[in-house]
Amino acid sequence: MPPLPCNGMGFLAHIFMIITNPDLLRPICDLVLLEEVEPIIKKLEIELEQSAKRGFPGVGLAAPQIGISKSIAIIRVGNIKLNLVNAKIIKQYYEFEFDGEGCLSFPGLYKKTNRFKEIVVESNLVEPHTFIATDFLAVVIQHETEHLNQILLMDK
Ligand SMILES: [Zn+2]
Repeated sequence: MPPLPCNGMGFLAHIFMIITNPDLLRPICDLVLLEEVEPIIKKLEIELEQSAKRGFPGVGLAAPQIGISKSIAIIRVGNIKLNLVNAKIIKQYYEFEFDGEGCLSFPGLYKKTNRFKEIVVESNLVEPHTFIATDFLAVVIQHETEHLNQILLMDK
């Protein structure tokens, strides 16, 4: 057997890792620790990039979607790079109907969802950090924080 092409770090071929089985997508997520943040973000970024290459571009990915039961998710919307670390939505305003929300765990599923136009988010790693998000970014944050709280698009 000829040697497999290798990048020095294992197989060159990337293994599809985004979980699509709803039964496996609802773990209780523990708080993420400081030393865990970077390696998990790296894995999430790789999966998001690989997914786009396979023809499923996404704007966010949560740790449970790659089998990690930690409260962390990444959001990549245009130039916006946001990491949700132990984040929770503490206030929400102006409910509206969002048309056509999707999820990388359910390729091809698009649903109308009730979302809030403006939210206040508290992220907590070394110390709490609060910020306001609006419009599409707010919708993505609501979607990703639900992944961390055992709620899936199919439940909406
Ligand atoms: Zn999702």
